[in-house]
Parts: sequence; C-alpha cells; structure tokens
Amino acid sequence: MPIQKNDHDPRTPYQLPFPKDALSEIVVPDAVPDDDRIWVPQAENVWFRPLCLNRSQGYWMNLLKVRKAGVLSRHRHPQEVHGWVLKGRWHYLEHDWEATPGSYVYEPPGETHTLVVPDGVEEMITYFQVNGVMCYVDPYGEVLGYEDVFTKIDLCRKHYEEVGLGADYVDQFIR
Ligand code: FE
Repeated sequence: MPIQKNDHDPRTPYQLPFPKDALSEIVVPDAVPDDDRIWVPQAENVWFRPLCLNRSQGYWMNLLKVRKAGVLSRHRHPQEVHGWVLKGRWHYLEHDWEATPGSYVYEPPGETHTLVVPDGVEEMITYFQVNGVMCYVDPYGEVLGYEDVFTKIDLCRKHYEEVGLGADYVDQFIR
C-alpha cells in the first residue's frame, strides 16, 4: 500500500465521518454489573447479561452466570460458539476437559452439550458469542425448544420491565 503524502503523524485521528449507514458502537463500562437486576434469569441458577444482541446478523454476545448446582440444559449448536471464562469453572457432560478462568473455548457447528458447574464452585461467569440458534434437545437430539437473538431480546424486555429498569433498557444492546 502506498504511503499517503499527507499522512505525517500516526496519531492524527481519522478525519472523515463514518459511513452514514453504519451502526453506532456499544460501550459497556460495567460489563460485569454491580446492579444484579441487569442479570436476566433464564433457568434455575442460570442468568445472562446482554452485551450485544445482534438482530441484523442473528447472534448474541453475553455473559453467562451459573451458580452452584445450576445446569445449562442440553442443547445443539448449528453454528459456532466462542467462549472466554472470567470466573469459576465448568465442564460439559459430553467432554472430558474443564474450562477455567482465562480459558478460551471454540465450539464447532454440530456440538450438542450440557453445561454443568461442579460441586464446590460458588459461581461461574463466561463471556459467550452464540451464533444463530441454540436448540434444546432430549438425549437423542429431538428438539424441545430453541433460543435465538429474538427470544433473548424478549426475555430481556420482560425482565427489565419487571425489575423497574423499563423494557427499553435492552435497546442499548441491540444492533
Ligand atoms: Fe452451548
């Protein structure tokens, strides 16, 4: 790439407006929130905290929190998942490895798994990017239900309304 003759200072910021159709950025200073109301319950002892609910591309970025004996029910991923463990430990009943703080996990399309937190771990928090859909299944793959970015948004609206933050609290995370 040729060096532009008027590019003398690497600290000169970009001088032009962003594309007019570009979406605005999301900045969440308290990604692990102090306010417990921000955690949206999704099952017994399981919560999620939305960060980016990407309805235009059909994925969601969230923190998943599981306490004590919580289980994230058996589900299949038709698309990939990326995870990064922030706190606690967990494993899948279908694999022999354990995810610990600092672990990065890639789950390929076709995975079916059940997330459990072992005895003695008070709480785990993991940052997950989930693409497309999660299909809840029985032990033989029969689909029992699903979640996608739209069911996530609906859960957030309902919960935030109930806890007094207002249904539109979720709007800041939607792109
Ligand atoms: Fe999963």
